[in-house]
Amino acid sequence: MYAPPVQRLITELSKLPGVGGRTAQRLAFHILRVSDEDAFGLAEAIREVKQRIGLCEVCFNLADGPRCRICSDERRDPELICVVEEPSDVISIERTHEFRGRYHVLGGALSPIDGVDPEDLKITELYERLRSGQVREVVVATNPTTTGEATALHLAEGIRQIDSSITVTRLASGLPVGADLEYADELTLGRALAGRRAV
Ligand SMILES: [Zn+2]
Repeated sequence: MYAPPVQRLITELSKLPGVGGRTAQRLAFHILRVSDEDAFGLAEAIREVKQRIGLCEVCFNLADGPRCRICSDERRDPELICVVEEPSDVISIERTHEFRGRYHVLGGALSPIDGVDPEDLKITELYERLRSGQVREVVVATNPTTTGEATALHLAEGIRQIDSSITVTRLASGLPVGADLEYADELTLGRALAGRRAV
């Protein structure tokens, strides 16, 4: 129906989350209509982000070098680590301005049913960081979902075995149950962080 390059663009766009066939078609025609500058700007932005952004070697947050900005910031408290599922959760917590420690991004949550086991997440790497003996508290800020809670319990147990003097805390309630941190507003998330409790 379409010239092959147009069809290819529609196919690629329809792979994006939340984009169905009709939306992909509308976006493709939009791209065909805009200036070369805007269209190539979009293509270049995609290329640049894939070439330049990787994972921080310490915390696995997104980084444009070996270490992310937070790990490179000497003013951040190295004794306090906040564990999150995804890099987008780091952004959500940073927006609250309530947290001055460091992060550790797991890359997901435990979900045996979906084949996500401890070795699929950056859990060993977290334990390595804790073995340095510098950390006094780990805030487990996984999502308040079944998988997020299971991950929190798994980590609490693992951390206790490594060093029982490390305090393990969990975000306080106030977050909508079953929702992702990404969608929480700053105030709700800030209060939840301020009122975290031991697990
Ligand atoms: Zn980092």
